[in-house]
Amino acid sequence: CGIVGYIGYNDSKEILLKGLEKLEYRGYDSAGIAVINNDGVQIFKEKGRIADLREAVDPKVEAQTGIGHTRWATHGVPSRTNSHPHQSASERFTLVHNGVIENYDILKREYLQNVEMKSETDTEVIVQLVELFANEGLQVEDAFRKTLTLLHGSYALALIDEQDKETIYVAKNKSPLLVGLGFGFNVVASDAMAMLQVTDKYVELMDKEMVIVKKEEVTIKNLDGEVINREPYTAELDA
Ligand code: GLU
Repeated sequence: CGIVGYIGYNDSKEILLKGLEKLEYRGYDSAGIAVINNDGVQIFKEKGRIADLREAVDPKVEAQTGIGHTRWATHGVPSRTNSHPHQSASERFTLVHNGVIENYDILKREYLQNVEMKSETDTEVIVQLVELFANEGLQVEDAFRKTLTLLHGSYALALIDEQDKETIYVAKNKSPLLVGLGFGFNVVASDAMAMLQVTDKYVELMDKEMVIVKKEEVTIKNLDGEVINREPYTAELDA
């Protein structure tokens, strides 16, 4: 299973699909991407091979921001409905997740009694919580951070907001995730291998950090909201 993301000036679809293909070795049962442009968010997802996902992606959709996922099902059968990306009730927020949220059931009962779940995954709780806290008036970054402080378990996450196509929010805990730096673009990947096609400069993330990724800028913060400075390294791998 794995995660990819791209934000820049080029069309994101092919970069995401190639990235997911590079992560196939990690194993998966379904795959999906979400892209965002002026028309909003579009999701393409399929149970099965990335080749099937590729077939399902509309080549006419152009979008310079996107996230992608290969799923290894832990909660909910492998199916199109349970495959990622997952969306919040109003479809404002779209999320991919690798890992396991151990307290998802408790969180669902405590915070999301009134929300009708669309999937059987533990993941959906995360995206529904972000929307709940945003609806309560928090800025998206703060809604995301508050959600992260409630999660127990492992996660690599990438989140997009339909109202802001200039940002990808990412976070990790006990699941691998890197941010790759480019000129005029930035990427996210579970493994540098996925994005060596576009950059060899990466910033490592530590557990319980979140990152605000924009085209020209990457800001790492801890869950207290404090900015963390970290130097990138050059990945020395063959693409
Ligand atoms: N626990 C999540 C699910 O079952 C994510 C699995 C994964 O890491 O791919 O959908």
